[in-house]
Amino acid sequence: MTNSAPKVIAANWKMNGELDTVAQLLPAFEAEAAKAQTSGTQVVVCPPAPLIPAALNASTAVAVGGQDCHAQQSGAHTGDLSAKLLAQLGCRYVIAGHSERRADHGEDDAQVAAKALAAQNAGLIPIICVGESDAVRNRGEHLGFVADSLVASTQGLDGKRLVIAYEPIWAIGTGNTATPEMIGEMHSHLRQVLVQRFGEETGRAITIQYGGSVKASNAAEILSTPNVDGALVGGASLKADEFTAIIAASADA
Ligand code: PEP
Repeated sequence: MTNSAPKVIAANWKMNGELDTVAQLLPAFEAEAAKAQTSGTQVVVCPPAPLIPAALNASTAVAVGGQDCHAQQSGAHTGDLSAKLLAQLGCRYVIAGHSERRADHGEDDAQVAAKALAAQNAGLIPIICVGESDAVRNRGEHLGFVADSLVASTQGLDGKRLVIAYEPIWAIGTGNTATPEMIGEMHSHLRQVLVQRFGEETGRAITIQYGGSVKASNAAEILSTPNVDGALVGGASLKADEFTAIIAASADA
């Protein structure tokens, strides 16, 4: 059976950007994102939360996502954001379990699954991030480690409204992109895990993005690797020419 996963290119701006960043970047993404949509690639921008309304107003072809949400719908959680509010604003996606949140905020797989479930319950599509450290890869344990993390981070979720991002921690923001062989090996392993977990049809329709130093110069090779259905892009998504080239590479892949 062939894979039928929709392609998704997502920008993670992290804690970058100022009040004028949306106006600088979104119009530059719009034409390429609209073109990509016609060939089946959805572009998503996940800005810092205060910039979400501006991003929603600035584009029709680019969907908007949050970078995190709380597992609860509301309550005494100072500084946190509910998935419900993100959905009410008009977001369609939210990142859950980015390695920076796992490291900075001690989020584990169970918490990531709870956040992703809150996202699905609010009508959002969670982009669930999983990936190994260089120590785990050097021990040769990466396939098992990431598969276990994927299973634990998707507990209780609907496989039909889900995006997975494989992001080796050692490749994020370092310029050290995983090789196409490493990416292909991991993505085909994760595809098998998803098929086992959600069944043949649903498992083959789940988008598996690669993330970790994706840029214009390596996007075409990465995006044409089997079982790679898009990219989660950090640094390069803050540069109009880089990100539009990545969108174009997805449309051509
Ligand atoms: C990320 O933040 O998810 C990421 C992949 O960052 P970068 O593209 O900068 O490595």
